[in-house]
Amino acid sequence: MAKVSINLATGSLQKEDIIVGIDLGTTNSLVAFINPEKQPHVINDTGKGVLVPSVVHFGPTGDVLVGNEAKEYLITDPQNTVFSVKRLLGRSYHDIENYKDFFSYKVIDDDTESLVKIKVGDKFYTPIELSALILRELKARAEHALKTPVNRAVITVPAYFNDSQRQATRDAGKLAGLDVLRIVNEPTAASLAYGIGLDPEEVKTIAVYDLGGGTFDVSILQIQNGIFEVLATNGDTFLGGDDFDRIIVDYWIEKNNLHKAEVIANSELAQQLRLKAEEAKKAFAHQSLFNEKIGEIWCTLDRNTFEELIMPKVKQTIASCQSALKDAKLTIKEIDEVIMVGGSTRTALVKKMVGEFFGRPVHDDVNPDEVVALGAAIQADILAGNRKDILLLDVTPLSLGIETMGGLMDVIIPRNSKVPTKGGRQYTTSVDGQVNMKIAVYQGERDLIKENRKLAEFNLKGIPSMPAGFPKVDINFLLNADGILTIQAIELRSGVKQEVEVKPTYGITDEQVEQMLMDSITHAKDDVAQRMLIEARTEGEQMVYTVERFLQKNSSYVSAEETEQTNQYIAALKLAIATGDKDLILKSIDEINEFTRPFAERLMDQAISTAMRGKSIE
Ligand code: ADP
Ligand code: MG
Repeated sequence: MAKVSINLATGSLQKEDIIVGIDLGTTNSLVAFINPEKQPHVINDTGKGVLVPSVVHFGPTGDVLVGNEAKEYLITDPQNTVFSVKRLLGRSYHDIENYKDFFSYKVIDDDTESLVKIKVGDKFYTPIELSALILRELKARAEHALKTPVNRAVITVPAYFNDSQRQATRDAGKLAGLDVLRIVNEPTAASLAYGIGLDPEEVKTIAVYDLGGGTFDVSILQIQNGIFEVLATNGDTFLGGDDFDRIIVDYWIEKNNLHKAEVIANSELAQQLRLKAEEAKKAFAHQSLFNEKIGEIWCTLDRNTFEELIMPKVKQTIASCQSALKDAKLTIKEIDEVIMVGGSTRTALVKKMVGEFFGRPVHDDVNPDEVVALGAAIQADILAGNRKDILLLDVTPLSLGIETMGGLMDVIIPRNSKVPTKGGRQYTTSVDGQVNMKIAVYQGERDLIKENRKLAEFNLKGIPSMPAGFPKVDINFLLNADGILTIQAIELRSGVKQEVEVKPTYGITDEQVEQMLMDSITHAKDDVAQRMLIEARTEGEQMVYTVERFLQKNSSYVSAEETEQTNQYIAALKLAIATGDKDLILKSIDEINEFTRPFAERLMDQAISTAMRGKSIE
């Protein structure tokens, strides 16, 4: 299958076009490409450095800054400065509830299963939109450096990212005007950067240890026939180089007899100390004593003390390596290579302990904060068909998915997946007592199913009558090596099941596929905007339904004024839904949430005290 791409400027198809590799990191992001000498290269032409801090700042007049300039505002304007957005990608509020205090900006607590949103000023942003801003900056830098439009990319994600997080990353790429050819695991990319896995004859088991700014993960991969399989991953999403900085700051606070609370209250001093700590940490690469002052405060630290201080954290990462090995059912001897990834693996103690644990020298000659992007560029080059020695596996040319609420396409097998492949997701009913579920299967890249190609439709019958949201329907797609797609739907509580088979490539020409791809790119922005509006609408309608039902059933917990006010809010929400203004809908939902929260609490208190009264204690 030929790869086609579209020149966004002219709208024409172009066969020869650069594909970049992007490492979209929690702390830093960067972009790399294969230069004319066939070497992977990180892009750095703007004099701003290679790393783009993954930070977005929203100015009072609607101006948006990304990267180093945005990072400056973390201290002076934290409410309007979004960092670590990768932690929110594809997550629901439910997923992140336990660490919501980590964010200095407002993460909307709908308390629902829907994906989180972020509020900055009057506007609501999804993590997809925010990630798209970072990707757009990377795209612009690449275009500036390469002096050519950049429309295609490979983007990396952690091996532990689930379906929803991967889909969100894809959507972010699309919104940034990039055709995302593939989502690649970060450890796979790192391995490619070391040339491991490029030889199809090679069979290897490797460990990739990735210690970044705020996250740690270790992955055990098995490489066979050029295919990377993740055997196990382990880690801690709240452990990284930032912890080392904090540990040093705490040490200086103690040595200088300062009060921690006072330092924290003085955000400028806290920031100066943090930066000094990071400087000290990095300096230990080439010196054993750090000795500087901030005003009257002595910032003194020697390497031995530093290592003692961070030892517990490093030991924690080693314990994770142990668990990963155990999960992969492997012994240390069975690991052939160990690869170091992430800026924090420059710390000598980390390298030493990881090497000792695995009993072998670690790979660390490729710059650890560039290695993932470099590997992504190599993967991009493979996909472009520029490496004749590497066999390109058959891939599915168009995404396969099903119709969900509002006529949206929910992708189950993304395009460019290697075949055979499978994918699946769980769905539920939206109406009380629903006993049938229509399953409509589509192919294509557009967000609305009506723009895609319908492959099949069937009804899953015999779902037991239950309240909306109770039935669990698993939908699985299996695409075999011959391109036959089997769609299976099964309701888990009752076991009712149905299966159909189709051949997605039947009756479609290469030209039609090209046309569909081209349409998806020219319409990307409108499509994403429409999808977001439909999602907001669906959420709004759900909110109206829930609140109206609550008022009917529990009128005794709500005063007349409160009912009146709630009804006004609902009317405003209905109007916003009718007008089709996404921000207005989200704002109305947020207002209703804020206003009605105490009602639910009252109801809970009441339920608890009734339960207590009910319990007899004699
Ligand atoms: P992420 O993958 O999470 O985006 P990076 O791989 O870019 O993060 O790692 C950023 C971290 O690496 C920061 O905590 C930074 O302080 C740390 N770091 C960078 N250089 C060094 C160094 N020379 N020594 C120790 N830590 C370093
Ligand atoms: Mg990283």
